[in-house]
Amino acid sequence: MSAVWIDEEVTPVVKDSKEAKIERETHKLEKRLCRQVGQAIMDFNMIEEGDRIMVCMSGGKDSYGMLDILLKMQQRAPINFEIVAVNLDQKQPGFPDHILPEYLKNLGVEYHIETQDTYSIVKRNIPEGKTMCSLCSRLRRGILYSVARKLKCNKLALGHHRDDMLQTFFLNMFFGGKLKGMPPKLTSDNGEFVVIRPLAYVAEKDLIRWATHRQYPIIPCTLCGSQQNLQRVQIGNMLREWEKQYPGRAETMFTALQNVVPSHLMDHQQHDFKNVRATGVEDADGDKAFDAEDFTPPALTGLPGLQVVTL
Ligand code: SF4
Repeated sequence: MSAVWIDEEVTPVVKDSKEAKIERETHKLEKRLCRQVGQAIMDFNMIEEGDRIMVCMSGGKDSYGMLDILLKMQQRAPINFEIVAVNLDQKQPGFPDHILPEYLKNLGVEYHIETQDTYSIVKRNIPEGKTMCSLCSRLRRGILYSVARKLKCNKLALGHHRDDMLQTFFLNMFFGGKLKGMPPKLTSDNGEFVVIRPLAYVAEKDLIRWATHRQYPIIPCTLCGSQQNLQRVQIGNMLREWEKQYPGRAETMFTALQNVVPSHLMDHQQHDFKNVRATGVEDADGDKAFDAEDFTPPALTGLPGLQVVTL
């Protein structure tokens, strides 16, 4: 696939005022967002000729940013693909149902608002005080698949970013006993669609800055009154604390997710430990079982977003 996904834009004329500095920073941010989304699209072959992509809009900063950047990508992409923005109005009390249709209409993008009262179903079935998210998201998933079918979309784009992926990885490790993250691309559980996460390489702090700059009409996500998953909150705080103490750690951990060495983990389903034998052949990449460990990763440079930090 051509590298036209990643646009080499001309650096704007240098001005000196405070506004000019903000303008330059914003331009750099926009370039970075487009570059990272373009890179993820290429690395995982997320978008192909003729795709019709349903972009799932929650009204949060991430989904606005995703739509915005995908529309920019569509202009410069070496292939043709279609975008349909979809929002599911779950009838949460106080949901401002005019905001997204107005925004999407003004944007001129094809869109669909699906209205289904899952809120009442969840309220009826989950006892007071228990978290509603798992039933709610299961219902939402089923509805979104049926909407994608109705709109003849073959892919669904979700607005999860790098920090969501890291959080999920640690949640699975700490609470689920699994080395498992959130995939940038997967087949939907009913086997019918491909689900993509074009913001996979994007840091949340960049999406926050971009949302502030673009002044998206953000809809709060707490309308349902559900408590955020406590474990996710804990992990989010832990990652933010680490990043504060050791700047660059999030990037390094994220790079690690792209450099998996199954032979150096302990899953015998992933690596055939039982048949490990002496080969008599020297292996430059083999384990240096008796050597001191060296954590400088020279082979990692060049991976998206890598920053080597000295601890
Ligand atoms: S926070 Fe509310 S709307 Fe979101 S998944 Fe949980 S119950 Fe559903």
